[in-house]
Amino acid sequence: MHLRQVTACPQPAEYTTHRRQRRQLAWQIYTCPRHRRLFEWSVPGNLRRLAADDERPPCGTVHDHRPHAEIIVSHLRGWMCVSGTPSDSPDPSEDDWQAHLSNARNWFIATGESDLQAVTEQALRLAETGAVGGILTLLAHAETAAARRRRR
Ligand SMILES: [Zn+2]
Repeated sequence: MHLRQVTACPQPAEYTTHRRQRRQLAWQIYTCPRHRRLFEWSVPGNLRRLAADDERPPCGTVHDHRPHAEIIVSHLRGWMCVSGTPSDSPDPSEDDWQAHLSNARNWFIATGESDLQAVTEQALRLAETGAVGGILTLLAHAETAAARRRRR
């Protein structure tokens, strides 16, 4: 399980929602009332108020249970807003996360987003050493920093 912090909100969580895929828990998010319909993290049918004896982590805490490749691609398509490749090359397969990272780097070079370009370049360097856990930590930190900058 990997921890992510997708808001910069100081409130303790009062709600939780989750998504399942292939009969397994994919992720679970904890939010305050204001953030309970957070874009990309909202599954209204699964939303429930936390019970008195539930744990109450800070708003925006995500427990991500997906495989590494899916988490990496979810960062790229989610808060990093990569929506394609600058060239018209075909999309790599879903589990080829290194190709997705490399395309994202090229996307940020083309769009001039130097901060995100630097993040993806660092991730690609970690990929060369096989440090997948390090990539997840790097992306999670960058995601939290982005949420703070956007005051989400
Ligand atoms: Zn909140």
